[in-house]
Amino acid sequence: MSELTPELVKDENHWLKVHPFFKQNSLDELKKYIDSYESPAFLYSRRVVTDQHYKLSQDLPSKIKIFYAQKSNPNPEILKHLKSLGVGCDTASLGEISAAIDAGFVSKDIMFTGPGKTEEELQFAVRKNLMSVNVESIQELELLDKICEEQRRKQGILVRINPKFEAGEENRIIGGMGVSKFGIDIDQIDEFMEALKKTKNIRLKGIHIFNSSQILFWKRIYENTIAVIETAMELEKKYNVSFEVIDLGGGFGIPYSEEEFELDIDKLKKELNFLYRNKKYSSFLEKIKMIYEPGRYLSGQCGIYITKVLYTKESGGKKVAIIDGGIHHMIRPALIGQSHPIVNLSGIIEKRLVKDNYLIAGPLCTSLDEFNQASQIEEIKQGDILAVLNAGAYGYTESMPLFLSHKPAKEIFIN
Ligand code: PLP
Repeated sequence: MSELTPELVKDENHWLKVHPFFKQNSLDELKKYIDSYESPAFLYSRRVVTDQHYKLSQDLPSKIKIFYAQKSNPNPEILKHLKSLGVGCDTASLGEISAAIDAGFVSKDIMFTGPGKTEEELQFAVRKNLMSVNVESIQELELLDKICEEQRRKQGILVRINPKFEAGEENRIIGGMGVSKFGIDIDQIDEFMEALKKTKNIRLKGIHIFNSSQILFWKRIYENTIAVIETAMELEKKYNVSFEVIDLGGGFGIPYSEEEFELDIDKLKKELNFLYRNKKYSSFLEKIKMIYEPGRYLSGQCGIYITKVLYTKESGGKKVAIIDGGIHHMIRPALIGQSHPIVNLSGIIEKRLVKDNYLIAGPLCTSLDEFNQASQIEEIKQGDILAVLNAGAYGYTESMPLFLSHKPAKEIFIN
């Protein structure tokens, strides 16, 4: 089918059929937000967060804990909701630690990760007695020890390791192995352990390895998990230490295109349960608290970004829809180069009979401000309300709201 050939709508919209947001929220329920539309807004659904958390946690081996990666969406309501579901919180700045505490997370359920923690942030973390500071360089370790000395406190840490394996990231988010700003290269762990011996106030609790995001194949997550466990076992032996925590980071993916399938989380959990019975690992795993810290999997699909079509036109033989929203609110497609699915809510509600291919572009003075809708979309008319899906993770706060001084998007909880 050529880009310009309209197609008859034969079937129910793919995303309406398969997407967790539409499984939890009917078009009837959404209609009131469409009818009362005033400006671009992120609509969030708690039901979707609850359901994603359930899918991940139900029948997960009890020794595995879930910490929510706050960076994916730090909205206080989402934090409070996830806290009520019993997860911990992974934070990456003083602001995120404060937000976690405000949402009710207790110190023992908060970790602090990130390659560039400032002295002020480390002082704050130590004062708050967090479960762990995940140390990413030898200099950070030394600074942390000095801060502990000044505060006369001890601090538990995980060492974040940059290993020689990865889980195969498609779009560069974390960046996998090789030269990395994250963590300490595995072949520099000797130096790290030497530096650790000189500290007086630091207790090494375990390791943290997070090297790939947006993984859709259960087997890659599973194999990566084994590789991290084996790394921890080898380090224990080599340095004659005993770990109590392994943090495997996030990375649980969600589909962004019609060709992608949902992560087979049930299969992953089944294999993880077998792993706990595998003699090679069972006695080690029995004493270990294993942590996954997903962001996108918990928050991504709970949010849609709604925006209105201001004008339609044609350029160079292609249909163009100019919308009032754009990358000032939702920069991820331009930043990562990954298209988000878009649906035409008005077109679906009015049961329009044709689909077409459009360039959907925002109001900013840069051609980066485009949403590349790869597949056909219900015919777009002036005044339509479109929804960008998977906007719950790395959406509202990962954008550039100051560019062109447009109004910020609203954030609305619909249930
Ligand atoms: N943990 C850390 C340290 C991260 O940097 C990130 C994302 O960048 C996450 C967890 C969450 O990753 P994801 O959203 O892929 O689950």
